[in-house]
Amino acid sequence: MRSAIKYRIYPNVKQKELIHKHFGCFRVVYNHFLDYRQKQFALGIKETYFTMQKQLTILKAQQDYQYLNECNSQSLQMALRQLVSAFDNFFAKRAQYPRFKSKKHSKQSFAIPQNIILDPLTKRVIIPKFKEGIKTRIHRKLPNGAVIKQAFISCVADEYYISLSYETNEPIPKSKIIKNAVGLDMGLESLLIRSDGVVYQTQKFLKDKEAKLIKYQRRLSKKKKGSNNQKKAVKKVAKVHLEILRAREDYLHKISDEITNQYDFIGLETLNVKGMIRNKHLSKSIANVAWGKLISMLIYKAEKKGKTLMQVDKFFPSSQICSYCGTNTGKKPLHIRSFTCPQCHTKHNRDLNAAINIRNYALGIIDDRYKIKLDKSRVGITRSYACGDSTSGVSKYGNIIDTSYLSQKQEAQVSLALG
Ligand SMILES: [Zn+2]
Repeated sequence: MRSAIKYRIYPNVKQKELIHKHFGCFRVVYNHFLDYRQKQFALGIKETYFTMQKQLTILKAQQDYQYLNECNSQSLQMALRQLVSAFDNFFAKRAQYPRFKSKKHSKQSFAIPQNIILDPLTKRVIIPKFKEGIKTRIHRKLPNGAVIKQAFISCVADEYYISLSYETNEPIPKSKIIKNAVGLDMGLESLLIRSDGVVYQTQKFLKDKEAKLIKYQRRLSKKKKGSNNQKKAVKKVAKVHLEILRAREDYLHKISDEITNQYDFIGLETLNVKGMIRNKHLSKSIANVAWGKLISMLIYKAEKKGKTLMQVDKFFPSSQICSYCGTNTGKKPLHIRSFTCPQCHTKHNRDLNAAINIRNYALGIIDDRYKIKLDKSRVGITRSYACGDSTSGVSKYGNIIDTSYLSQKQEAQVSLALG
């Protein structure tokens, strides 16, 4: 089974310099070949990893690019790999068109594909070009027999990290019999809505921190350009950004732990990249980033715990179908938060209805092909299934959606469905 772990590292002054050289060279190679690939494409030539790798060797021999040789050559090749997969993701409609990495706005990182040693005795990580090892805070040991497959070094707000992905002999747990199931919908006003009515808010990790960020950003704007005070202010802003990042990650870990502990089966929407590009609203774009991260956490945690996760393709009209009677009620503008089904007159909360549809649709995909047993008497894959099962509405980190405005009629139907 493959897992990953992130350690804080404490490079010395010389090592910091070399790390930043790697950041720079990684970026230069990535950008150079993004440009090169575009130009070749315009000429009708399709570049692959191997053709670009040859070009990289030629590039490194040039006088202007001599400095590339100071870096681990395999890390530079990883920049090409990253570019190739960025294009693969774009053509598979999983991501936006690859963009040039900027010194200011892109994440400062580089990859190391092999020859990575974590030495718990000296508390150092040894990678190519850093033979003396970089001081590492090993807060958790790697499991016995773990083989390190890849590493990433990154820097955020003057703090340095190495994340190691490793493989263990531990087999992937067999899928459990599905006794309960949940559907997840990315809410418009909240981060996430579960089909059992639990809502996770976006603001939780942002509210107080956002105010702090605005304060520091305002202070920064008043500082003289190039002054020491400006430099200090920049650092402060970066620190708050890091705090927000950490608070968000912590919150996402709690949510994904909760969901994968409570449910055997999780159905969710595939991230809609097109919708993400269109949405320029700040808080929404943060929610989008969070949603992407949350999905990857849910995927690896579900796998680790033997739970089943099914992603529903984005063309499934989850917000149009009435989750009670199955009628397609048609497209609705975004501001419509609730609606009444014209067929069965059930009143629906838009997001909750979508989450229930996702749950039922995803459950419907499970069949013999996946060799996962379904306890049908408990899960109930009927359309009329509305508010979940025994796990319904139990959450430490979310609140129960307010459905008090929904009609009495639906409540009667829910109890019918459950009974
Ligand atoms: Zn209906």
